[in-house]
Amino acid sequence: MTDAGRETSPLPHLAVIGAGPAGLTAALTAARHGVRVTLVDAAPEAGGQFYRQPARELGARRPEALHHQWRTWERLREGLRRQEQAGWLRHLTDHHVWLVERRPDGFTVHALLGPEQEQPVEVRADAVLLATGGYEKVLPFPGWTLPGVVTAGGAQAMLKGTLAVSGRTAVVAGTGPLLLPVATGLAAAGVRVAALVESADPRGFVRRSRALSAQPAKLAEAAEYAARLLRHRVRTLVHHTVVEAHGTDRLEAVTVAALDGAGRVRSGTERRIACDTLAVGHGMVPHTDLAQGLGCRIDGVAVHVDDEQRTDVPGVWAAGEATGVGGATLSLTEGHIAGRSAAARLTGAVPDPRDWAGAARARAALRRFFAALDDVYAPPVHWAEQVSDDTVVCRCEEVTGGAIREAVAGLGAGDLRTVKLLTRAGMGWCQGRMCESGVAGVAGCPDTPARRLLARPVPLGVLARAGDTDAPQGT
Ligand SMILES: Cc1cc2nc3c(=O)[nH]c(=O)nc-3n(C[C@H](O)[C@H](O)[C@H](O)COP(=O)(O)OP(=O)(O)OC[C@H]3O[C@@H](n4cnc5c(N)ncnc54)[C@H](O)[C@@H]3O)c2cc1C
Repeated sequence: MTDAGRETSPLPHLAVIGAGPAGLTAALTAARHGVRVTLVDAAPEAGGQFYRQPARELGARRPEALHHQWRTWERLREGLRRQEQAGWLRHLTDHHVWLVERRPDGFTVHALLGPEQEQPVEVRADAVLLATGGYEKVLPFPGWTLPGVVTAGGAQAMLKGTLAVSGRTAVVAGTGPLLLPVATGLAAAGVRVAALVESADPRGFVRRSRALSAQPAKLAEAAEYAARLLRHRVRTLVHHTVVEAHGTDRLEAVTVAALDGAGRVRSGTERRIACDTLAVGHGMVPHTDLAQGLGCRIDGVAVHVDDEQRTDVPGVWAAGEATGVGGATLSLTEGHIAGRSAAARLTGAVPDPRDWAGAARARAALRRFFAALDDVYAPPVHWAEQVSDDTVVCRCEEVTGGAIREAVAGLGAGDLRTVKLLTRAGMGWCQGRMCESGVAGVAGCPDTPARRLLARPVPLGVLARAGDTDAPQGT
């Protein structure tokens, strides 16, 4: 086992997990204020989801073409280079963190390295900052397991990371602001986007217009996307949903339909659209596994933090989408506050909120904006009615909608845990990360996130050695 954090410096040491907008900003801010930082990320490059870069060997000539806020990224990248050179910051790439352990003298970050992710690495630190972002929610519908159906973020990640597209004719569907960059990004890359199918009710935007208009920059961004959709002649169907994906060996078409005021499919409005790719997403869910493993309080689906971005576990900060979904700018802002607070507290200074007053005001405004947006972009209320009994809902364990309904109606299951025990839904490789909301919706149970104490599958040999304090250490 290697101990990547073993150093003799007397300076305080902060481990930041996640090198997306939040973690990168937090790491640079803390390093600039007198703290040694180890930045740990599973990806081969810094940037997270928003600033995901094409693999170097692809030799992309204009990577900025796929990005917003490229200048901010250049500033962060340059800051990272400088802090690494100055010896304040170490960036550990390809390190998959599976547990953060609390010890009497600080924390141990346990990660896996290598192509098979079987080589254990430990990082010792005085404090930890969790900036692990979020992942996409996808709700099931008949045909969603066909090859050619991908998540909207997955299509975007593939485009940004490999410069490849998954087909020639795409439908982008579901709900949420992420659909806009996905549809325009695919269209700009030469894919014919046959339709953008958004289930949100436009009346929701009118209802929340006051909160939404408080962020003119975001409105300008939305207008820019609308112009691009027009330019690429993408047909936009608002208050519509995909009811079924069709195909034998792979996707050939989708059926979409309008929704009524109650969020049900309006019968007679179904239409079929030929496509070989369906990029679908229903919003984002914060990554909370590492925080849960540390015993941090979770509010709803997000890590609870105070005004300084501290969790309720001493020595643990959290920032970005792990603390609530709100886009890259909010993540940058929270990362800045978390970095300032952690640096002040670790160097023994008295934290002064006036040092980050501007960021705190921006954070409050952005949180209000995204709360309003979240309200507008909720999936259709009655989406689960479209899930037929033979639709696979839990893909890892191949549990169908019918089996889940039988567990509820026939066997009396009244909560997610009992449904899981009776059907095995959520017991597979993803441990319910992908299907939890789908299973809850079909079962009619509250969507309460399961406690997962390990953030990723870990080889048994690594687990056995992690508890062994005499295990050989040092590189
Ligand atoms: C697939 C996807 C595509 C998106 N596309 C867009 C887009 O096109 N436009 C847009 O405006 N917004 C997009 N978003 C939303 C946007 O990326 C986020 O708002 C923003 O990136 C959040 O920043 P963050 O720093 O909180 O998290 P992220 O950017 O998600 O960064 C989190 C980092 O943590 C790392 N990490 C997580 N868990 C571990 C672990 N256990 N061990 C080690 N490292 C870990 C990840 O590798 C990642 O680098 C997308 C989100 C996703 C999930």
